[in-house]
Amino acid sequence: MSYLANKNHNKTINKTPLYGLAILLLSCYFIISVTLYHQMKKTTIDSELNDLQNHILFQKSMQFYINNKIKPVIYEFQKQKKISRDYFNPQILSGTYITRNIFQLFNKKLESNEQFSWQYRLAASNARNPLNQATPEELKLLKKFNQDRTLQYVNQIKTIDGQEFLYFAAPFKPNNASCLRCHGDPKSAPKELLDRYGNVNGFHEKIGDIRAFTTYQLKLSEIMKTHNKSFIIISFILFLFLLLLYALVSWVYLTEQRKKQLIAKQKAELEYIANHDFLTKLKNRHALNQDFSIILKQLKNAPAHLSNLWIMMLDIDFFKKINDDFGHDTGDLVLQKLGEILLQEIQNFEYADAYRLGGEEFLVIIRNTDAQIVQKLYEDIANSLLLADIPALKREIKISGGATKALLTQDHQYDILKRADNALYLAKQQGRERLVFDS
Ligand code: GH3
Ligand code: MG
Ligand code: MG
Repeated sequence: MSYLANKNHNKTINKTPLYGLAILLLSCYFIISVTLYHQMKKTTIDSELNDLQNHILFQKSMQFYINNKIKPVIYEFQKQKKISRDYFNPQILSGTYITRNIFQLFNKKLESNEQFSWQYRLAASNARNPLNQATPEELKLLKKFNQDRTLQYVNQIKTIDGQEFLYFAAPFKPNNASCLRCHGDPKSAPKELLDRYGNVNGFHEKIGDIRAFTTYQLKLSEIMKTHNKSFIIISFILFLFLLLLYALVSWVYLTEQRKKQLIAKQKAELEYIANHDFLTKLKNRHALNQDFSIILKQLKNAPAHLSNLWIMMLDIDFFKKINDDFGHDTGDLVLQKLGEILLQEIQNFEYADAYRLGGEEFLVIIRNTDAQIVQKLYEDIANSLLLADIPALKREIKISGGATKALLTQDHQYDILKRADNALYLAKQQGRERLVFDS
């Protein structure tokens, strides 16, 4: 069997870098998508908060107008008895009433514009209308607004029944003298108010206290509807872009790899052609030169094994006559047959190789062997040749051989081959059909 192994050039393309790239791009896609989603959510919430603040500013402006422009005129008329104190329904002059009504109208407008509505609530510690009574949690927030007068608003994301809400709370203006007309002593409160709500709740407020705050609750899923649509489009475009990038890189990579493979294959083919005999498919003299120097280098480090390296040169007897009598094509068949026989016979050796030196001359290198085994190998080859069945050849093929082994001292390739050649020459001289050992 040949001990100089052939390289396999038909390897499949290594796709690991492509799998790596796919994982990298997918990770990028997920990281970018998650970051983008959160950034867009934050921007949407910020813009919604901005809307809310504008809305509250507008409400406050309306209230300011009513409190500072309208109410003083009405109160002045009442004072001058031009109208009675109960002339106007006191609700009309109530801050909470005004706020709720403006908000309801605003919400209706939103709905008619097919925009989602806002949830509005008013929370007071001393509510006249039981609907407005603050919950324990709201009372805490009211306390906070009273303690910290710089606090303009509170906003947070609240989860209620598994749904997220944007929660926004803004305090009322602190009580002033005009507020106490309805929220101070029930004795001086409008009659209409007492008739309607009684004299228990909503009175005895103090000037300077913040008595209530308004809250807005917006369903996050509603706010995010447009945002989600944009996110899906952007993330789809991103995915397409990364997919295209992957396809492009894969295409470039696979094309390059195929090119490399083709070059390697062509190189291997050229190497094969340069080192092999076309007719017998055995290695040629060029390959022998290379192999021989490699083997000698390997054995130099193990001189004891050098003496076990054997060379056997073979030459078909009267081959010219075979050509002359049966034609060149039959001669070729004989050469091919001998090639097959040599490959067959050396299969039993761990380290052996066969070469065609040229014409009808062949050579066998065997390692780890001795003279008897070389002799036996020659006889097996000669017998196989005798038995060879070649159409149109009505003659036995016989063969001569010359054998030698490498010497322990610095034996040169040329000298070894020369000794084998001399032994072969002797075999021819001694009557052919034999193997002669170089003595
Ligand atoms: P000897 O027993 O002394 O070796 O005699 P021989 O006839 O075998 O040796 P000789 O060197 O006189 O002839 C070798 C012949 O081999 C001559 C040449 O035409 C023939 N030959 C060389 N290469 C090829 C080949 O590739 N195909 C064929 N068919 N014949 C070849
Ligand atoms: Mg010959
Ligand atoms: Mg010859």
